[in-house]
Amino acid sequence: MAKHGWRLDRAIHNYLYFAFYYPYVKIAYLVFRFLANHFSWFKPFGALLKPAFNRYHAKILSFSDTQKILELNADLSAVSAKNKQIVPYKYAYKILLQEPDYIAVMDCPCKKTLNAPAWSINSCICVGKTTAQFWLDRCGKKYHARKISQNQALDLIKTFRAQGYLTQAFFKVATGGSLGVICNCHINSCVSLQATMFARRFDPSLSMSANSGYSIEHNTTLCRNCGTCAKICQFGAIRFRDNIWTYDSPICIGCELCAEHCPQQAITLVRDPNKTVPLDLDLIKAEYAE
Ligand code: SF4
Ligand code: SF4
Repeated sequence: MAKHGWRLDRAIHNYLYFAFYYPYVKIAYLVFRFLANHFSWFKPFGALLKPAFNRYHAKILSFSDTQKILELNADLSAVSAKNKQIVPYKYAYKILLQEPDYIAVMDCPCKKTLNAPAWSINSCICVGKTTAQFWLDRCGKKYHARKISQNQALDLIKTFRAQGYLTQAFFKVATGGSLGVICNCHINSCVSLQATMFARRFDPSLSMSANSGYSIEHNTTLCRNCGTCAKICQFGAIRFRDNIWTYDSPICIGCELCAEHCPQQAITLVRDPNKTVPLDLDLIKAEYAE
């Protein structure tokens, strides 16, 4: 209740959300898909979807920004509206990490919903004792919740990134409006990323994921035209046709996967002033924390 500003409705929503994580997400996905498949001609639905996006969304993380969260060893609180430069949504934007070395992992409801490979299911990471303990107490058997160390969480992230999964930090009003859950996502098995695709049939400006704040630079001298970067990019930001490499910065969400998978180290992630501010804890401690 305290986490929700003593709002009983939000506390109950939070309880139902995690206690019934899989059916909750599956129903949300089916509703989104139904609307997109049958009513995309009805553009006013875009306005109806926006309030939902303002309450539930994610921030794309580079690997180094993820690493800083998973190596944090003291509480961090940045809850002002200034955070909207980082997480540009109306309601859920608090960067609040309490007891961040208390971490749990459990089954990802998106991957279960979208029939992802079995090895990838146990991949949703919770950072911070309040929610992690709730997962362990209430979802242990049902969703295979288990406590893991910060090193194990980081190893999990590395395993997924090596397989082409990007990293997202989720924010939701029903979980206190703050950061807490980090997941390993792929467009084929992430309800959030697919919800953006569905919502854009109504309103192209809608997105459930804020970009990381980075773009990439490409070194043509080092590049060997292998095409790996274009294959790993889930958003078509890199294209490789007739041996010509092209990049579309506005489409790029700055996930860093192309840089990590380039065998020639020909791609570098760079801060982009035209995008959001990165969720970089060093920057947040210096400029945003209370
Ligand atoms: S992965 Fe690297 S070497 Fe291959 S095309 Fe992309 S930039 Fe060039
Ligand atoms: S171009 Fe690279 S950093 Fe941008 S979205 Fe694609 S894989 Fe991610």
